[in-house]
Amino acid sequence: MFAAKMATAGKVIKCKAAVAWEPNKPLVIEEVEVAPPQANEIRIKIVATAVCHTDLHQLLENTHEDCFPTVLGHEAAGIVESVGPGVTEYKPGDKVIPLFLAQCRECRFCKSPRTNQCDKAWLFPESRFTCRGKKVLQFSGTSTFSEYTVVNQMAVAKIDPAAPLDKVCLIGCGICTGYGAAVNTAKVESGSTCAVFGLGAVGLAAVMGCQAAGAKRIIAVDINPEKAEKAKVFGATDFVNPKDHSKPISQVLSEMTDGGVDFSLECVGSVAVMRSALESCVKGWGVSVIVGWTDLEDFSARPLQLIAGRTWKGSVFGGFKGRDDVPGMVKAYMDKKLKVDEFITHNMTLDQVNDAIELMKHGKCIRTVLNVSPQ
Ligand code: NAD
Ligand code: ZN
Repeated sequence: MFAAKMATAGKVIKCKAAVAWEPNKPLVIEEVEVAPPQANEIRIKIVATAVCHTDLHQLLENTHEDCFPTVLGHEAAGIVESVGPGVTEYKPGDKVIPLFLAQCRECRFCKSPRTNQCDKAWLFPESRFTCRGKKVLQFSGTSTFSEYTVVNQMAVAKIDPAAPLDKVCLIGCGICTGYGAAVNTAKVESGSTCAVFGLGAVGLAAVMGCQAAGAKRIIAVDINPEKAEKAKVFGATDFVNPKDHSKPISQVLSEMTDGGVDFSLECVGSVAVMRSALESCVKGWGVSVIVGWTDLEDFSARPLQLIAGRTWKGSVFGGFKGRDDVPGMVKAYMDKKLKVDEFITHNMTLDQVNDAIELMKHGKCIRTVLNVSPQ
């Protein structure tokens, strides 16, 4: 590690990355140049990165031309290669998880225990990537489909040096997002009945969060019947496929639960499912949390749903403050209190990133981990 630091610190690194040149096209494995970290920045050697549906959303749905070319990827773990001026909390050799949601620790949102919506969170630093003489944009301030990336120190969590990076990379997005949406945002109560819509890694982590919070019944909902077995592993007590019913799914759940569930979580990213999840909640106290990602459409609901006492909320990164809370989630995994391995259905290399994207597009994986560099 020390030798590598001596060799590359302060210099441009030429390395391999998967570049998305334009929307809706396969990524291209290219040689990119990664500039050294500037003030308050950290250059990270990515060891492992997984593919999350938000990467697909950016590539296939959020297709503004001005978002391209870009390097996608935001669920990863790696090792600090070098640090820029002003960085004191991190040093070369530290094991880290990059954060797509920064935590500056100084703004009014960071100072409040009620939210993780740091004011600096969506102010991403200038990209340090170039390829074929062109600037390549960073995605979510992270860009982990690359052997190296540069991230602001506000967006880095230092983790246990013993943590296996090819596993805990999932804590960088999907696991915290779903688990936290249940325990931090919905605040699922012991003995309650829950419904989770969408059983990708995010939804399965939400099921795991409901179970950890003591829910007595957890109804897993997905249109893909292949997800049923996996949902049981994380604690689901029932599985419902909306396609097996001619009635609306909210009515099916209402009949199963004497009027609706106490908590519902939408982990799909569809405005129609968001509405169904809200309508599946019981009147009076039901809480529905939007976790799925979309910003392309408005949603609609009948006001009476809320007037009758339901609460509709949203959640980013499960409400976790990344720098403070991610190390604890890694520890929970190391202490065998949090499942992580069970989410990983495929292991591949960075060169196979398009295969990993295809698997997710067709619902054939939970998480594919791309092994980028040796640990
Ligand atoms: P995924 O593609 O692995 O899983 C989505 C699941 O939803 C699939 O199993 C699919 O079969 C199911 N589904 C599709 N339509 C459905 C329907 N009508 N009813 C029920 N189930 C349906 O995706 P993922 O990586 O688990 O991500 C899930 C969502 O969470 C995405 O929208 C993603 O962008 C979002 N996300 C949000 C945050 C956040 O901070 N809020 C973070 C990460 C991901
Ligand atoms: Zn993600």
